[in-house]
Amino acid sequence: MNTHKPADRIQDLQYFGEFGGVNPSITDSSTYTFLSAKTMFDTFEGNAEGCYLYSRHSTPSNLYLGEALAAMENTESANVAASGMGAITSVLLQLCGSGDEIISSRTIYGGTYAFMKNFLPKLKIDTKFVDITNLESVEAVINSNTKVLYCETLSNPLLEIADIEALSKIAKKQNLKLVVDNTFSPLMVSPKNLGADVVIHSLTKFINGSSDAVGGVICGTQEFINDLRNVNDGACMLLGPTMDSLRAASILKNMRTLHIRMKQHSRNAQFLAESFQKDGLRVVYPGLKDHPGHETFKRMYNEDYGFGGMMTLDVGSLDKANELMEMMQMQNLGYLAVSLGFYKTLFSAPGTSTSSEIPMEEQKEMGLSDGLIRFSIGLDDDIQRTYEKMKECMNSLNILK
Ligand SMILES: *Cc1c(COP(=O)(O)O)cnc(C)c1O
Repeated sequence: MNTHKPADRIQDLQYFGEFGGVNPSITDSSTYTFLSAKTMFDTFEGNAEGCYLYSRHSTPSNLYLGEALAAMENTESANVAASGMGAITSVLLQLCGSGDEIISSRTIYGGTYAFMKNFLPKLKIDTKFVDITNLESVEAVINSNTKVLYCETLSNPLLEIADIEALSKIAKKQNLKLVVDNTFSPLMVSPKNLGADVVIHSLTKFINGSSDAVGGVICGTQEFINDLRNVNDGACMLLGPTMDSLRAASILKNMRTLHIRMKQHSRNAQFLAESFQKDGLRVVYPGLKDHPGHETFKRMYNEDYGFGGMMTLDVGSLDKANELMEMMQMQNLGYLAVSLGFYKTLFSAPGTSTSSEIPMEEQKEMGLSDGLIRFSIGLDDDIQRTYEKMKECMNSLNILK
């Protein structure tokens, strides 16, 4: 049944193991036998449905996970990758060649930024970084070499919100592919329904949610996924960002509680953001009415899941930020760690960690101040208690006036 609700589409999938297990069996083989040599040839050429040849190409476990992710994003198909970066780099290298250009939001994941800024120019692929919330500035830099429009639904770490519907109109008019990294907002936003051509996730974050694995996925049309898997010129096939089957099986199991976790992450983050704002702190959270993208997000989101688990707080200086994070960790309110989507709150100062690839000058220009702390709010059952303890830390460091 086709439903507009992403969690229902996942729920409606049915899996059985080869012995009737309620979880599909894990394929623990790198290679597969054939009864006939002809079928082996057809499989290699991609013409034998349901047959497997070699596990870099595909495995049943990876296909199961991909199927669940495609259902979530409402795309025809999906290909899992060994990491979010494995997914992002494969997509960009599949879509762009020498002489082509990318237009990207300037507030994106540090690794993606570094790949576009430092690596792709070696292949003569240039990127123009723009303020993605300013549609005129996006249109102004499009030229005949532009192939890709790239953004994050909710940007890392500044939590800027991309108007995917508006961007997709520009992309369609100019014949560009709109590629959206939806890592911060799984279930919350369905970019394909808003016009995105390709949707990417780092599975490492909310989707797996256990901080025990690295993974990525590319969701798109069957045609595009087939292109990525093509044995002659497919980026996923030839660059080798293959996910291990054991990992795919493990991530699939964690994914089944994603809807419950996202609701709790959002509820807790909304509570903390509102509370800290009342206390007079400089907090950025998409669920706050004064967030510049609040209305845009409300137009796009599946409201059951709220505004997500990511929040930033500017405490004025890096020294203060570091002191506060160390103290919060000491009080066991969370961990001083990069990454996100864990059951515990994670916090880090992006200027000196996950976004350190971005030069200081550019960080300033985009509003990434060095007192900024990025929070991935955890699944705490009693968030009021967490808030009070956090406030104690802030009081003792004179952050709250
Ligand atoms: C972490 C992250 C990535 C990279 O994913 P990996 O799994 O670490 O390779 C890409 N985009 C965003 C928004 C991320 O948070």
